[in-house]
Amino acid sequence: MARGEGDARGDFFGDFEQWYGPLWERLGAGLGVAARPTVGGGPLYDVEAVPTAEVELVRENKLDFSTVIENRELVDLTSPFGRSKRHIEFALPPGVTYAAGDYLAVLPENHPRLVERAARRLGTRPGAAVILRSNRGAMAASLPTDHPVSIQELLGRHVELSAPATRKDVERLAERAQDKAQQAALNELASDPARYQAEVLKKRASVLDLLDAYPSCELSLGEFLELLPAMRVRQYSISSSPRANPSRCTVTVAIVKAPAWSGQGEFHGTCSSFLARLRAEDQVPIAIRTPNVPFHPPALNSTPVVMICAGTGLAPFRGFLQERALRHAHGEPAGPALLFFGCDHPDVDLLYREELEQWERQDIVTLYPAFFRKPEGEVTFVQHRLWKDREKVRELYRQGAIFFLCGEGQYMAPAVRETLAKIYQETAGCTDAEASSWLLEMEHKGRYVPDVFA
Ligand SMILES: Cc1cc2nc3c(=O)[nH]c(=O)nc-3n(C[C@H](O)[C@H](O)[C@H](O)COP(=O)(O)OP(=O)(O)OC[C@H]3O[C@@H](n4cnc5c(N)ncnc54)[C@H](O)[C@@H]3O)c2cc1C
Repeated sequence: MARGEGDARGDFFGDFEQWYGPLWERLGAGLGVAARPTVGGGPLYDVEAVPTAEVELVRENKLDFSTVIENRELVDLTSPFGRSKRHIEFALPPGVTYAAGDYLAVLPENHPRLVERAARRLGTRPGAAVILRSNRGAMAASLPTDHPVSIQELLGRHVELSAPATRKDVERLAERAQDKAQQAALNELASDPARYQAEVLKKRASVLDLLDAYPSCELSLGEFLELLPAMRVRQYSISSSPRANPSRCTVTVAIVKAPAWSGQGEFHGTCSSFLARLRAEDQVPIAIRTPNVPFHPPALNSTPVVMICAGTGLAPFRGFLQERALRHAHGEPAGPALLFFGCDHPDVDLLYREELEQWERQDIVTLYPAFFRKPEGEVTFVQHRLWKDREKVRELYRQGAIFFLCGEGQYMAPAVRETLAKIYQETAGCTDAEASSWLLEMEHKGRYVPDVFA
């Protein structure tokens, strides 16, 4: 049943048992009848667990609650160029399994201060509660209807407060502006694509930012909610192997935090800053997702691998190496593995340095770093390191290595791709076009496996 289908009670209560099943059993556990004896003999309170909008949201996104075990900083933030990256470990819900290279999908919450700011602008407060009723039938509603829900829950978990406003949103705000000059300015913003692009999209100005910038706009909470997209899950490459502990997984997260492009205060990435705030024992809605193109360690531990990454692109390769080292220790000798990786500075953000160096001492991997803030000759970025050590790359290619690439897709991935093609071109003495088709062929055969993200 889609959210909002059925009659008013059906949303939350009608098929409660059928839909919530084991998830509810675990969440409801511990809510049993209070054991305090009373004068009359029986317990003073009977406790009835009732479904919440939070549980419905988690179920709808096919998620389940995991528990945070550890959340620690990996970067030296005392350095002027230290940008926070965190290692977060989760205890998985019972029965949930994963493979090295899978993703962890996380449903985040908006920052409480952002929720408070939105609530204040709409003339309410996070602690207040409302009941939403859909005027266009239950099917049209993507938010929890016909059931009390707090403003904190509604604005915190169900909608993207930081998403850039669409042109239609700007049009709607113009309609609600009471001040003529502000109305004209908003109309111009909505009707002129170049201005909309420059002032809204490029600055990522949200509906809330515009409400603050155009204070004469009078928008009701219902209208505001209608303009916002539903909260979406974010994915993170898992940075552990289930061979280390099948009921736990880790992620390696770059925290998005910088002066907002809109010029209004600090911008906090919704999910990364949510993850940064987590403490041990916190409950987080997650799911394991498998990459569309298989991105896993080779079936044979002896297969040579070349891993290329920058920043948190290292995440899956930590999982690969953990797995490789454990299989090696259990009698499956590890083949040669090269790890080319880019970061800022060896003393600031060389993630998992001790572990990597230990694996290098055990002959599980050979490290080829590139440091942007401490260049070595011509080696500044990972593609430069790849080119400098191309003899080693060729050697592993001849031995049948699988090449893996992970990380940001705008600059690093195309530069690495170009460098690999150049190495081949130098070896084979072929044209640019032939080198590109060789790379495509490598990809087709599963010998070049990129996993890149925006
Ligand atoms: C398959 C896959 C695997 C991934 N694996 C990892 C991983 O292992 N580790 C990892 O850290 N990330 C990973 N990511 C990225 C991750 O999913 C999120 O996209 C990332 O954490 C940002 O999400 P957020 O919710 O924090 O930011 P959001 O709230 O979604 O905001 C991000 C947006 O804000 C914009 N923005 C950035 N700075 C500013 C600013 N100063 N002002 C205004 N806007 C700004 C960005 O351009 C971007 O459009 C992966 C992504 C994919 C698709």
